[in-house]
Amino acid sequence: MASISGTVEFGHALGGRGFTRALLRWAADSRRDLPWRSTRDPWAVLVSEVLLQQTQASRVEAKYREFLDCWPTPGDLASAELSELLKFWVGLGYPRRARNLHRAAQQITNLHQGGVPRELEQLLELPGVGPYTARAVMIFAYEKDLGVVDTNVGRLLARWCDSSLRPKIAQEIADKLVAPGQSWDWNQGLFDLAATVCTKRNPQCGACPVNSWCAWHGAGTDPADGSAGVSKKQQPFQGSDRQARGLLMAALAQGSIDTSEAAAVMGLLDQQCRATQLVDDLRNEGLIAFQGDVLLLGDLVK
Ligand code: SF4
Repeated sequence: MASISGTVEFGHALGGRGFTRALLRWAADSRRDLPWRSTRDPWAVLVSEVLLQQTQASRVEAKYREFLDCWPTPGDLASAELSELLKFWVGLGYPRRARNLHRAAQQITNLHQGGVPRELEQLLELPGVGPYTARAVMIFAYEKDLGVVDTNVGRLLARWCDSSLRPKIAQEIADKLVAPGQSWDWNQGLFDLAATVCTKRNPQCGACPVNSWCAWHGAGTDPADGSAGVSKKQQPFQGSDRQARGLLMAALAQGSIDTSEAAAVMGLLDQQCRATQLVDDLRNEGLIAFQGDVLLLGDLVK
């Protein structure tokens, strides 16, 4: 078993030259063709990362192209109405991402002359951009030698080390393992390995290019359960606040509705208090607005 301490140590020559070469060779042969992989445009990369935050890649593909057709630069989005973006966002879920991206575009336009920042600290100041997204932009647009830990990479790291990892340690390991000068290939390779070979259930250890270096190797309790970056089970969508909010946002994308109709639209006719709370939440989040007794999409800010 690998030794995981405050200072990162690896067992099984993890991080050694053979391991790095094996993974990069496999990555070059097995790369999935995804539209955001053919660009280094930092705005396109940022958009793809925000879209991918809580939505499956297969659903993001078409929307990503459509988004960039509509708003090819931060300046284009900054000058658009938020309501237009929210209409576009229907079906993707988690519309706070849209509002944050709109605000980020305005910040980029006003404070950075329309260019997506190149420094981690400046990226982290953009609305909706957390450590994962900031690092992803640094790697996939600017090719900086950094690691990034999402659900998939968190699973790989825990399995390689046969240890549940705290977030700080997982990030340290991810940074330390990056092949210098090849961070783009390296990190995409980790995503592909996790998505196609080292899957959540039934990892294909026999076909894994780095199985000689993996401490877990699919035997016994999965160390990825509960480890850093590895997502927990989501609440069912049916009957959730998320579903009710989504129904209201979708209805508003078709046009304004009377406030008295909101509960029915959300399927909450018998839960008026809950419906009122959800409407208030959406308004407080700047996603919908009142105009008299009528509800509208957006924040009415010109
Ligand atoms: S050997 Fe198995 S558990 Fe280890 S990285 Fe490969 S697929 Fe995952």
